[in-house]
Amino acid sequence: MAISIPPSDCLDSIYWTLSSTGCYSIKSGYATAFSKLWALKASSKDRLRLESSSVLFCKQRLWSLPISGKWRLFLWKILTNTLPLGSEAMKRNLDWNYFCVNCSSSTQFETPEHLFRDCPLASRIWMGSQLGINSHSGGHVNLQKWIINWISLFLKKEQSCYLISFFVSGLWRIWCIRNALKFRSSPVDLYSSMSLLSLDASLNIDAEHQYMLSQQRRLNHDQDDLSEMERIRNFFPHFLIGSAGCSDYIRVKCDAAWKPSFQAAAGWILKSSSGEVIYRGQAKFWASSAFQAEANALYLALSDALSKGFTHIDASSDCLNLVYQVAGLQAKTQDAVSILCCICNLLVCFHCFAISFCPRTLNRTTHAIAKCAIA
Ligand SMILES: [Zn+2]
Repeated sequence: MAISIPPSDCLDSIYWTLSSTGCYSIKSGYATAFSKLWALKASSKDRLRLESSSVLFCKQRLWSLPISGKWRLFLWKILTNTLPLGSEAMKRNLDWNYFCVNCSSSTQFETPEHLFRDCPLASRIWMGSQLGINSHSGGHVNLQKWIINWISLFLKKEQSCYLISFFVSGLWRIWCIRNALKFRSSPVDLYSSMSLLSLDASLNIDAEHQYMLSQQRRLNHDQDDLSEMERIRNFFPHFLIGSAGCSDYIRVKCDAAWKPSFQAAAGWILKSSSGEVIYRGQAKFWASSAFQAEANALYLALSDALSKGFTHIDASSDCLNLVYQVAGLQAKTQDAVSILCCICNLLVCFHCFAISFCPRTLNRTTHAIAKCAIA
């Protein structure tokens, strides 16, 4: 009785129970084929390849650095050892030139440490840049650690954006010179390279500055925002649902009560935007879980609102997972998939729809209606 039967015709579907989303993935297939122990071994081996400080930096600080997306990705590739360097090609037995092209050496392998720090060309670039770094002094640590140390130091300084821009610009320029030599055999022009380095850094500083200004403007709510508000009101009215700028919508609140005996009930109220209660509804049904009952309560409330001709809806539920799943931010819970699909089909009929979480304390009325129905 608790299997939810969709009101509209829909085909049966097959799903993979070994992943939370119900979709088959090669990863979960492998994990099942090899035993759990093998899966564990494989993942820990992968992790050992990188230094823990590097992993931590990539997870926490890298993506908020004041540099462009292109540079963040580049830095991430250096820190995770994924740049296609000669030393990596050698490990894989590829037929490549394994030696450093920047110093046209026939003995020095192209390792990350050599290319970006110890190579004579790299040293000249570091020394000649605005930062004046003596790269010979860092020879005792690997490149990832060296980069993280410098960036951590710059982050503590007042002009961190300026310093980090010049630092990453230096790494980027060395990489550009290496690629120009390797793939186009272009001769190295150190003078123009240093100018490009400064130009890249300045462009990045400028872009960051503009971004900070735009963020500040957004916070300050100045004249610009008023015209922006007008634009939204005229062209994207559905963005305003639920905000103070919208006055023409219906508030839908719902809640469910559920017993382990699979009995369930829903209660809902429809309110005008001024807060006046227009309608109260309740229904009894069967559900296999509390979540399924919550989803069904939302479905019943929304179909009721639609049948009464309301098309601007601001819905709220005290079930956070349901809000996430309807908004598409979380994979659907398997035993409520068909109800969630029905909800999604219903949403197409509304002109505007917004859903938000409301804490249980603000949802007492609907809770009482549902409790009353199940008793
Ligand atoms: Zn070299």
